This record gives sequence, structure tokens and C-alpha cells, in this order.
Amino acid sequence: MNPENEIYTLIDRISNLLKSEARTLGSELGLQSVQQDTLYYLSICNRYSDHLIALTAFLGLTKGTVAQTVKVLESKQLIKKEKDLVDKRVTHLLLTKEGEKHIQETTPPSRFLSTIDSLSKKQKNDFVDQLRKCLVTYQNFNNLNGFGVCRNCVYNIEEEGHYKCGLTQDGLAEDDIKKICVEFE
Ligand code: SF4
Repeated sequence: MNPENEIYTLIDRISNLLKSEARTLGSELGLQSVQQDTLYYLSICNRYSDHLIALTAFLGLTKGTVAQTVKVLESKQLIKKEKDLVDKRVTHLLLTKEGEKHIQETTPPSRFLSTIDSLSKKQKNDFVDQLRKCLVTYQNFNNLNGFGVCRNCVYNIEEEGHYKCGLTQDGLAEDDIKKICVEFE
């Protein structure tokens, strides 16, 4: 097998194992993997990205499927909807306390965490670097931006220890810059 095929096979296999473990953990609450993925996304995205359009783009599914997923999670009281205080056209999708608890207990899945914990700090940092470069290049080939971590975004401005978004001009807290954003570039 050539290196390209081997890398593809390894990433695909890890992805399938992750999905399988997540499915097992989610099944305790009767959740399908797309519902588990939605909860995880909402736990790591920022306030510009917690709406249906961004969620649909992240999951790469149809709007109808994602709307149905949101409905199920709402009925299980794992997420709630909240109108934006400034722009009433925007509805935020937020984890409830129960949703947060479920994600904290299940994601990333424990067997995956044990696997990654067996790597040294340097190996983990090198791994992150390689994967990030691979993702950015792949996104560029697909003409897709977005969903990077805010602190690495070209619009992220740091002034005397404070952060600001150059796109929206909003101030960003320490917690904000650790999250992923649909507007990331
Ligand atoms: S700096 Fe970039 S990633 Fe952060 S909120 Fe602004 S657009 Fe999003």
C-alpha cells in the first residue's frame, strides 16, 4: 500500500472506531451518532456558530435532517433554543445542563482518550500540527473555510492581553478564543 492510501485508511479506520464508541455511549440516552455529533459541536462552537446553518455546514448533512436532529435533542431536553438579543432573526442552539453533563461524560470517548494519553506531550503537539495542516489544505482544495479554532484566525486581534474579533469588532473572552467558529479564516 502506498503512503497516501495508508494515511487514508488509517484516518478512516480511526474515524469509524470513534463513531462506534460514540454510538455506544450515546445509546445510553437513546442517541444516534448524528445527535451525539450535534451535542459535541454545540459544546465547542462559539456564539457566531451555534445556529442551524453553521451546524448544517459542520455536519455536512441536509437542512431537513439537521432540523429533525435538533427537534429530537430539544424533546430530550439536551438542547434549548434562544433568540439573539440583538438580531432577532438568529436563533442560538444551546446545550442544557443535562446536555453539557452528557457531553462531559462521553466526549471525547474514554478509550480514545486512553489511546491519546499514551503519547508524549511532544508527540501530541506534533500530531495536532500535522492534522491541522492536513485539514486546512483539504479545506482549501474544497473551497471551504470555517470551523477553525478562534485563536488561530486571521481576524483574531490581540491588544495588550485582550482579544477582539476583527470581523465583528466584538470583544472575545479567553474562553471564546478556544472555540471553533464558522467564520474562521
Ligand atoms: S476572530 Fe475569527 S474565529 Fe474568532 S470570532 Fe472572529 S471570525 Fe470567528
